[in-house]
Amino acid sequence: MPLSLRFVAFYPTLRSGASHSLKHERTSLSSPLFVVFSRSAECVRIGKGLYPTSRTEIQGRTKDREDIDREAASMSREEATPATDFIREIIEGDLKANKNQGRVATRFPPEPNGYLHVGHAKSICLNFGIAEQYGGTCNLRFDDTDPSGESMDYVESIKSDVRWLGFDWADRLFFASDYFEHLYQYAAQLIRDGKAYVCSLSPEEIKEYRGSLTKPGKDSPYRTRSVEENLDLFQRMRAGEFEGGAHVLRAKIDMASPNINMRDPTLYRIKKVPHYRTGNTWCIYPMYDFTHCLSDSIEGITHSICTLEFENNRPLYDWVLDHLKVECHPQQIEFARLNLSYTVLSKRKLVGLVEKGYVSGWDDPRMPTLAGLRRRGYTPEAIRDFSERIGVAKRDSIVDIGLLEHCIREDLNQRAPRVMAVLRPLRLVIDNYPEGKVEEFDAPYHPQNPDMGSRKVPLSRVLHIERGDFLEDPPKGFFRLAPGREVRLRYAYYVTYTGVVKDEQTGQVVEVHCTHDPKTRGGWSPDGRKVKGTIHWVSAAHSLPAEVRLYDRLFGIANPSGKRDADFTRFLNPNSLETLTSSLVEPSLAGAAPGSGYQFERLGYFCVDPVDSSDRGLVFNRTVTLRDSWAKIAKKE
Ligand code: ATP
Ligand code: MG
Repeated sequence: MPLSLRFVAFYPTLRSGASHSLKHERTSLSSPLFVVFSRSAECVRIGKGLYPTSRTEIQGRTKDREDIDREAASMSREEATPATDFIREIIEGDLKANKNQGRVATRFPPEPNGYLHVGHAKSICLNFGIAEQYGGTCNLRFDDTDPSGESMDYVESIKSDVRWLGFDWADRLFFASDYFEHLYQYAAQLIRDGKAYVCSLSPEEIKEYRGSLTKPGKDSPYRTRSVEENLDLFQRMRAGEFEGGAHVLRAKIDMASPNINMRDPTLYRIKKVPHYRTGNTWCIYPMYDFTHCLSDSIEGITHSICTLEFENNRPLYDWVLDHLKVECHPQQIEFARLNLSYTVLSKRKLVGLVEKGYVSGWDDPRMPTLAGLRRRGYTPEAIRDFSERIGVAKRDSIVDIGLLEHCIREDLNQRAPRVMAVLRPLRLVIDNYPEGKVEEFDAPYHPQNPDMGSRKVPLSRVLHIERGDFLEDPPKGFFRLAPGREVRLRYAYYVTYTGVVKDEQTGQVVEVHCTHDPKTRGGWSPDGRKVKGTIHWVSAAHSLPAEVRLYDRLFGIANPSGKRDADFTRFLNPNSLETLTSSLVEPSLAGAAPGSGYQFERLGYFCVDPVDSSDRGLVFNRTVTLRDSWAKIAKKE
């Protein structure tokens, strides 16, 4: 069986030398992703979930406990190699060759012009993860050289998101704007060396002179300016003598280069916009290609990891560093950025959604931002797990958002307490249950983890059940409550249908009546008779009102950015938010901590909205459904 080394390393037990011998296999996205057997075979692991069973159906095959033992025993420890990818291979090669004196220094360089999204999380996990793995360092550097759109608020949100993901830059917080003077001196050096000149073509002319993929560019008439004139003009640009667009500083490289980035790229432009950190000190700002490589070099970065779209900028990265003869020349390595289906991961597009009011803000739980995912109930562990599973590739692709959902489902399956909530209530009256009587049932918070404890759930004569759990005229295969049926009330009793009350005007069922069998207390019958359905409930007198927000995917199609001529907002999913205002939850949820996650039994994973939930009114966000209903829909289509 082929082995995916990357996944194996995901289990911390393996790295620390492991009491388990593990085996896994990759399967399709809509089903459990990985199956790992533990040597002891007390349980089967599916992803991070532990399934304590002796026979487990996996991918249509039934495995006996003995089979599992045999397979596990046949594996050697060596299979548990740590995760690897082409970037780690490069780094390991460098370490072997003692390049950079065995140092590994990476950085995560966001521009503070928006909130971080799950694509950034991939980059954060990669950069900080590599530093951790090889005993190196990872800097957090704000790449803040374009004052329009940048702000301290974004800086703060980015810092808190990186921390939330679980990474620490210690005292290595940097700002490219701190290097402005340094960079200016570097630029002056290039001018003195005859490697840069002030160009006074208009922006349109510069574009025209640049040529195209099929047409070489032509030299700017200002290319031959003397060093003195260039230094003078550059100094006066800095002094604010000229308006934006009047001049730029350009590198003197090669207007006929097949790589357009090398056709005398702009290094500095005039921009009379105050900077959120340097105020009005500067009115010329260095371009990304000039700033980035030098910032890396100043900080002593060894491996400058960025996304594929910068591949053609690498020659320029190297050109700047080579011509300035800097001591530290980091190696730029590109990897494929994360694209995720049913959402967009471009800051420009996300800003648009926020500014045009398509979502309630950067932290709208439908947004793929870390702030949005956090508010939705995603955990940092699930996002790190996701980042690890998608791996690092050299080629662009779109990852199914189902994988992200799978990761949070798995994580919450382990950690979320189970509780009962009724989203769309229907009254259920137990006719033979005494008025005023209240019984409490002990209900465990987690079926597989007794350490999580239990809580008391009160039952009384009038309950609420899910409207969808009763049908007067049920189709085949409906095992919930219906005329003539007996079902189990979770943790409590068997109840048998006796009748309904309908609204005289609308004919809608407003109340269902039943009787309970007192001998089935706890949900089991001493005579061994079986019921096919178990439904959840809350006691009318004891339950708490709650608002529940059912979130779904933000876009209705898998690749909303894929249609070039169409405005991507056309593909927004009109049903991405449904707000239920008359839901009821069990009383144990009184005072539930903001942000905490629960499994509402049979319904999905929900979290207490950290913004809108309060003592006056509970608000829950659906994090994810229990099963991937989209996979089913996709299969049908
Ligand atoms: P956008 O293009 O959407 O504006 P950006 O890449 O310009 O985003 P930055 O703040 O410059 O945003 O990104 C910081 C770092 O995160 C960069 O190194 C960038 O390569 C990386 N990054 C951004 N988006 C992704 C993504 N989708 N997948 C992986 N890494 C990403
Ligand atoms: Mg960028």
